[in-house]
Amino acid sequence: MSGIKLEGVSLDYGNHLALKEVELKIKQGEFFSLLGPSGCGKSTLLNIIAGFLEQTTGVVYIGDKDVTNIPPYKRNLGMVFQNYALFPHLSVQDNVAYGLKNKKMSKKNVKQKVEESLALVQLESYATRMPHQLSGGQQQRVAIARALAIEPSVLLLDEPLSNLDAKLRKEMQFELRRIQKSVGITTVLVTHDQEEALSLSDRIGILGDGVLQQVGEPLEVYRRPANRFVAEFIGQVNIFDTVLNEGTVYETAAGFKVEAQPHEQGVQPKRVRFMLRPERIFLEQDAAIGSVNHVRAVVKESSYIGNAIRIRTEIGGMELAVHAPDPLFPVLPAQGEELALSWNKEDIIYLEVLDHEDN
Ligand code: ADP
Repeated sequence: MSGIKLEGVSLDYGNHLALKEVELKIKQGEFFSLLGPSGCGKSTLLNIIAGFLEQTTGVVYIGDKDVTNIPPYKRNLGMVFQNYALFPHLSVQDNVAYGLKNKKMSKKNVKQKVEESLALVQLESYATRMPHQLSGGQQQRVAIARALAIEPSVLLLDEPLSNLDAKLRKEMQFELRRIQKSVGITTVLVTHDQEEALSLSDRIGILGDGVLQQVGEPLEVYRRPANRFVAEFIGQVNIFDTVLNEGTVYETAAGFKVEAQPHEQGVQPKRVRFMLRPERIFLEQDAAIGSVNHVRAVVKESSYIGNAIRIRTEIGGMELAVHAPDPLFPVLPAQGEELALSWNKEDIIYLEVLDHEDN
């Protein structure tokens, strides 16, 4: 098994620079997700690792080996795609055996490996079924078994769960993680689903416009996004530009004041873009009007999503999104209702320093 290293990888499609100088190290045994909106370059990067596309500049290593000039079939990769891609005329066991027969293994060893691989995805009793006799989730488990049977050094997954319905998708996420952990194989997952990336990965790389915007553990990228792009892509977020008032207290254009923790560089910047997650805003019985980190906001819209209530509020012409856990309200807050809100200074996160000048 191997890790993966990308050094200065760019890809120019001629009319479009799809990847810009990507530097990335994926550790051996790591579950790594490439996350980003449609068109950001995720599949392009996965296809470069796989060898289906050649980078315009840069070097790709699998393990210690520069694989730039090695064709895909010699890179010893397992791949699973969105559309299952099982051979429709072959049974489950023959699908799994396909890559092994190409390796010229003995019949006995092939049989044993197929059994092992199907046991890994808990489909031992489905060996003789045909693909059309399986559900989407089962087909995808066969595809995973087939990819792992050849004992690849790296597993590449391109949106493998996007064709499954929401409930099955969640089940398969647990299943994928279980299988990956039990085999310990270096895995790269391409997904546009932030919850999937957060719940499955050891680390996530967020791509935006061909640039690797941030690489980090799930908690890190959610709580400490590197920039506005990452903050807005992963979860919902309130962002406000502020001017220093005094100490660590800043004033927004909407007129309310926020207190942050001291800036890590010791000196408070003059103008700062802060973020505050909607679920970190609390509802108060009564807000001390005008005090720091307390506001009164007017409800514009509220919606119930089962485990939470999403409220769009307005304060001084600025929108503030609030997510309150269910069942905080006996009924949904009505449009025009005034809410007293507060938050902790630990949740006022420095997103960007806009101006470092002294007062
Ligand atoms: P993602 O997987 O993140 O949705 P892709 O890697 O497929 O994005 O594509 C990245 C960008 O490169 C997109 O803007 C896409 O339109 C462009 N692109 C993809 N393939 C080609 C191609 N063969 N020729 C020109 N542009 C391409």
